[in-house]
Amino acid sequence: MTFDRFPLHERVRAGVDAAGYTTPTPIQSKALTDALAGRDVLGLAQTGTGKTAAFALPLLHHLVDGPRGKTRALIVAPTRELAEQIHVEIKKLGRKTGLRSATVYGGVGKKPQEKALRGGADIIVACPGRLLDHLSSGVGSLAHVEVLVLDEADHMFDMGFLPDVRRIVKQVPESAQRLLFSATMPKELRHLAEEMLNDPLRVEIAHSAPASTIDHALYPVDPGMKQELLEHLLDRSEVRSALVFTRTKHRAKRLAQRLGRKGYQVAELQGNLSQTRRQQALDGFRSGKYDVLVATDIAARGIDVTRVSHVINFDVPDTVEAYTHRIGRTGRAERTGDAVTLITGEDAKQVHAIERTLSMRIQRITVEGYGGDAVNRCETRPGKRGGARGKGGRPSGRDRGQGGRPQPKTARPEGAGAAHPTDGERSRDGGTPAHKRRGGRGRRGGSGRRSGARRDGAASREGGANGR
Ligand code: AMP
Repeated sequence: MTFDRFPLHERVRAGVDAAGYTTPTPIQSKALTDALAGRDVLGLAQTGTGKTAAFALPLLHHLVDGPRGKTRALIVAPTRELAEQIHVEIKKLGRKTGLRSATVYGGVGKKPQEKALRGGADIIVACPGRLLDHLSSGVGSLAHVEVLVLDEADHMFDMGFLPDVRRIVKQVPESAQRLLFSATMPKELRHLAEEMLNDPLRVEIAHSAPASTIDHALYPVDPGMKQELLEHLLDRSEVRSALVFTRTKHRAKRLAQRLGRKGYQVAELQGNLSQTRRQQALDGFRSGKYDVLVATDIAARGIDVTRVSHVINFDVPDTVEAYTHRIGRTGRAERTGDAVTLITGEDAKQVHAIERTLSMRIQRITVEGYGGDAVNRCETRPGKRGGARGKGGRPSGRDRGQGGRPQPKTARPEGAGAAHPTDGERSRDGGTPAHKRRGGRGRRGGSGRRSGARRDGAASREGGANGR
């Protein structure tokens, strides 16, 4: 199927071609016809499915021939990063339309936003709080909005933005087309959808299930060995660029600093950073200046970096939704990706919740010498074994030496493997890949270094810091 079947305005279609999109993604196939005809849409889809274009194309199509100089479309998003990401996609797809888009969010100067809201932009992509600030001080108006989009509505709910969102929706004319996208549909959101949507087309794409182009794996590890296992994983040749998630801002900062000291090209992305620094981190990661980005959930919400080869959960996410969102950063738009989660004995409950909700058993891969055997022994969950790959997972041949199968490796006394790397992975590509040895990274790489770290107590110090 191609985009030919949709009656897109030629200048919008030109943007699709310039973006290089040839085949509509499933959500685009399902939503575009009705959305282009002006129907409201309730889209249940996670990031990575192409949902931005699913609302951006109808929006551009609708606005392209109309008047200019007023806010005619409003997209509300939970985070600045997502707002920026949407803005970039709209600019890309709308490059031939002459329509202007601008972002409005906190943490940056108000002046350019005021100009945009006073007629400098046709499309506003906004986070709720700052938009309401402007509106309540008389800057801008939503009276001319013809298309309203709420994106990642579940996340806005999680962040307590629903009252703000409601206030915004009230200011948009009844006649406006409304599109609501969300990965999940909690009760409160269902109510909002019922209130604001008029006979919507309901489109559901892989609800709560991660993209099928992603391979999932759990790596049992001793809490005190997490960083060392992370380094081991980062050193593998197939890890081209990794997005590493931590539970807190503080942990993100500290982990990034530590990895930086070890010579990794790393940046951090967490809520305590200024918008400028967040943007620098993202731009650097996108451009390849950084191979590793250590982030928290909130900061990473809107990240669209197609080159992410691996998402690594340094800490298990608190909710299944967060797991889905995190790993949605890899395997984007049909590209393949890997989702790796480090698990300790304390994570068993959360891991089971993830597996239960996603209806899959995720393969365990134990790398010897990092204490994962003990974690495996804690995993007492009986029953279903097998199904090494999650739903739709693709066999990759990766980790063939020690993984590629669901069962944990036979237990081995902790530490015994450290000095003699016997895990297949390390025997296969144990040395640090040359392309990663930048900025002093040459110091690293041998397994002896790892066993040394265990001997000199670094591991236990780390354990104190990392223990949950
Ligand atoms: P989204 O789910 O909107 O965040 O989109 C994920 C990624 O898919 C983005 O990098 C988009 O640019 C890309 N994308 C969206 N639609 C298509 C398409 N039809 N063909 C190829 N890539 C696409």
